[in-house]
Amino acid sequence: MSDQTRFILNDTDLPKFWYNIAADSPVPPTPVLHPGTLEPVTPDFLSVLFPMQLILQEISTERYIQIPDEVREIYKLYRPTPLLRARRLEKALGTPAHIYYKYEGASPVGSHKPNTAIPQAFYNKAEGTKALTTETGAGQWGSALAMAGSFFDIAIEVYMVKISYQQKPYRRNLMETYGAQVFASPTNLTNYGRSLLAEDPNNPGSLGIAISEAVEVAAMSNGAKKYSLGSVLNHVLTHQSVIGEEALKQMDMAGEYPDVVIGCAGGGSNFAGIAYPFLRENLKNGKRARLLAVEPTATPSLTKGVYTFDYGDTAKMAPVVKMHTLGHSFVPPSIHAGGLRYHGMAPSICALYDAGHIDAVAVPQLATFEAAVLFARSEGLVPAPESAHAIRAAIDEALDAKAKGEKRVILFNLSGHGNFDLASYEKYMKGELEDYEYPAEAVAEAMTHLPQVAMPA
Ligand SMILES: *Cc1c(COP(=O)(O)O)cnc(C)c1O
Repeated sequence: MSDQTRFILNDTDLPKFWYNIAADSPVPPTPVLHPGTLEPVTPDFLSVLFPMQLILQEISTERYIQIPDEVREIYKLYRPTPLLRARRLEKALGTPAHIYYKYEGASPVGSHKPNTAIPQAFYNKAEGTKALTTETGAGQWGSALAMAGSFFDIAIEVYMVKISYQQKPYRRNLMETYGAQVFASPTNLTNYGRSLLAEDPNNPGSLGIAISEAVEVAAMSNGAKKYSLGSVLNHVLTHQSVIGEEALKQMDMAGEYPDVVIGCAGGGSNFAGIAYPFLRENLKNGKRARLLAVEPTATPSLTKGVYTFDYGDTAKMAPVVKMHTLGHSFVPPSIHAGGLRYHGMAPSICALYDAGHIDAVAVPQLATFEAAVLFARSEGLVPAPESAHAIRAAIDEALDAKAKGEKRVILFNLSGHGNFDLASYEKYMKGELEDYEYPAEAVAEAMTHLPQVAMPA
């Protein structure tokens, strides 16, 4: 084997199809319920929020979905993304393990999120959508959709969690540079926002609240605006499969196959993006990669949440889905990986986890930043705090391999860079960050507000 470090694909290797796990999943899909009636949703309800092509992808069981040429042309601005072997990290750890990472921070906005923002804007444009609403926490999803909106000439309205709006001005500046309008949520532009501000004018906001506002604006717009979500939904996970499809080819170039495939998990899209093509190989081609989702101990929906039906948002306007949840009314602690602060998880990941096809682990905030700094000082790249969760787990795997004297091949997804997150690094280096206990009482309280769904037969 050579001493190659970067594994680079050609333009011609850019995937032509997205992979849809629904075709191969050994667990049946669970129904999506209307938030008012708690009965299975009709396409009519969804078509208020989404264009028909995305609704069809949401319920599709086709194995491969062709990527439109217009989308592939834009993907070529940053795809195929590189795969690197972290040789300097391996040396720093003194491990016999081989560590590879897929670098999704290579996109113009610095994360994997354009992989779905671009097709979502494309399908909306094709069906005549003029404006899209969405939410954003730290601003990564908002900046991806703002960029895609500028490419397809769609107006983008972003409801940004107020505390991030105040603390992270640069992501807001980026969205505005692409031409998006950004509002600090809760706003006084929606019924729900006004009701929250009446109770507490200083409400710091949350992702669940911002989703509610973005959904309300689209639902009340008489068809003028549609809504876009950056994670959790089946079509989002399908779009992200380009990550894993490329990684399969690049591991082949490296002459190795991963024993373990790792991704951080907020709503689950970048994890599914790298893991599902490898899961297909497990299910259909006799491979045996372990698939490991990594979440923060502060919001451990997979490892500690209840597997049940719950609302996708705080105001109970988004569809109800079966997922591992901490409760839609649970407000996660203010950890610095804002993209992982979500009460639920993508339903397909939950079903596969429940059936034992996927593993999960939760890691604490300080150990995560410690891993991020070691990574930066050995590989050079400063990771997003979200991605640092995957790095922590990859390092733990490498140290376990060292303790056992095993050669283990580890692949993780580096979902984004941390160049906009340096204020969080400053806090870590000043010793101002803390670990959070699992918020058991708040979760128990939130569990009393779950929807009372009569389990469908
Ligand atoms: C949004 C985001 C995440 C979390 O979202 P998933 O849907 O779980 O992937 C992780 N990493 C980065 C860099 C993000 O921007």
